[in-house]
Amino acid sequence: MLRTLRSSSRLLILCVIAVLAIYPQTVAWSQAYVGKPKLIVIIVIDQFRGDYLNRDRAEFKGRGFRLFMDQGAWFTDCYYDYANTKTAPGHATIGTGAYSDGHGIESNEWWDASRSGAKKVSSVEDERYQLVDIPASSIPANAPGTSSLAAKFLVGASPLNLRASTLGDELRLATQGRAKVFGISLKDRAAILPPGHAANGAFWIDNASGQFITSTYYMEHLPEWARAFNASGRRAQAEQEANAVGTTQFFDLVGRTPAANSYEFDFAKALINGEKLGQRGVTDLVTISLSANDIQGHQFGPDSDSEEHMIVALDQQFDQFFSWLDQTVGLNNVWLALTADHGVAPVPSEAAKLGMNSAMVNMEKLYDQLEKELNARHSPGANVEYLMPQPDLPYIVLNKHAFEKVHIEEKTAEDELAAILPDAVAAQNPAAPPILKPNEPTPEPSQKRLPPAPQVAGVYTRLQMAQGQLPQTEFGRELAHSYAYHGNWFVLLALGGYQMEDIRSWGGTTHFSPWSYDRHVPLAFYGVPFIPGEYHERVAPVDLATTFASLMGVNFPSAASGRVLKEALQPIHSTQQ
Ligand SMILES: [Zn+2]
Repeated sequence: MLRTLRSSSRLLILCVIAVLAIYPQTVAWSQAYVGKPKLIVIIVIDQFRGDYLNRDRAEFKGRGFRLFMDQGAWFTDCYYDYANTKTAPGHATIGTGAYSDGHGIESNEWWDASRSGAKKVSSVEDERYQLVDIPASSIPANAPGTSSLAAKFLVGASPLNLRASTLGDELRLATQGRAKVFGISLKDRAAILPPGHAANGAFWIDNASGQFITSTYYMEHLPEWARAFNASGRRAQAEQEANAVGTTQFFDLVGRTPAANSYEFDFAKALINGEKLGQRGVTDLVTISLSANDIQGHQFGPDSDSEEHMIVALDQQFDQFFSWLDQTVGLNNVWLALTADHGVAPVPSEAAKLGMNSAMVNMEKLYDQLEKELNARHSPGANVEYLMPQPDLPYIVLNKHAFEKVHIEEKTAEDELAAILPDAVAAQNPAAPPILKPNEPTPEPSQKRLPPAPQVAGVYTRLQMAQGQLPQTEFGRELAHSYAYHGNWFVLLALGGYQMEDIRSWGGTTHFSPWSYDRHVPLAFYGVPFIPGEYHERVAPVDLATTFASLMGVNFPSAASGRVLKEALQPIHSTQQ
């Protein structure tokens, strides 16, 4: 009895203390909460160059891009500090605050000696898992007239190749899993890599139907809200907006129009509502990668009407999405970041018209030439393939088994390829001007310039990169950041500025190089901790994860190399660290 009394009075005292404690803390807590937002949204525009915001500034209205440019901290000079400016490494960098030498993702797909000698693997494919809730029509076994051996499922996807933790991983660890972290994109790699290993889910589309799907790495079935979204008729609306009703090429035909961006934003809203993100007393995080600009950008280039149209439409879509976030979670409780996974080169023929040396290299011809020379040296009269097919610049992968058969070791093979590459590329130079006959009058300098000529800016072997035998320059540091190893011998080929492989069979332009136009992306923040302004310091996308980690008071992602952008932080936040 006495014991019960004692314990009840103790309980009462505790209650009184608790009540007394709550009121004064309500004020302090709500202030402290500003430092730890309810929701963090990282928006990545796939293929968006840093100069677009300035170029199209006059077109922006409302709280779209202007939310970042007028009310946020906008860094105008943000450059990736590596030489392999592709989608998967870019998205991995945004999540991890590290480059390929830290996060292990050097391209969208690669030859992986430990997994397959017959085909490349994608940055996120993972045969230990299966894709979830894909439409029956996308399963090979269901295709009409298919063999009985056709697959009854599709290989799944996961962040298995990501060798570093992400901001989302650190948030999940710091909250013992209470924080929820999700990624969204049309593309699997862009949905999976930014949120990381401990993400609660990543969602991307089935390319044919446009239905959102995921992988058993995350869950056995899509959540109820995602199934409802897929069944809602929202896809049909997107097809209609894109003028592609009933298409079986949703990714290509809807994906290249602004309709794809609003489709993704509506899925993001369904996610935030469905999972009650930012409404649970803990910081949640979502990464949204908008794929449409990349799909149309490859086709039409950065200076096209299509690009302009996409950007102006995106400005309005941002305005609507941010207003919805304001009503749902309250923008005071949200931190936003905006960036991109890479830039892009101008369409080579357009740049060449202005006098740029924008040559294209025919990779098939180049490979024929290289194989001919390597066979002549090591297996005269034979037709051995010394290079792995399907080159993905800036890397050229050697067939190490072919070299091993003729007893050539890695250093010799890579040095040899590096030595013959410049001449093989130069062999594609257009014919030189005719040699004048004796006594022939020298022509007046012509107004017509000679066509662009391919050039090699540098070739670096895997061993040089692995051993740090690189120029002690900024360029050398970029090369070092581009290094990841998947068991192969390779060389990194840097073509001259504004040059690329000949891609006219599938598009107008591309991105892959160490040059500024491929590395320049926007970086902007919006939220209570940031001092609004336009900042011209040179910064890098790796600074995004470190700045947020510092503000959140969690560990930097495991391989993060960025700096905290202290110059843009309100004094209370910059002294908290
Ligand atoms: Zn991309």
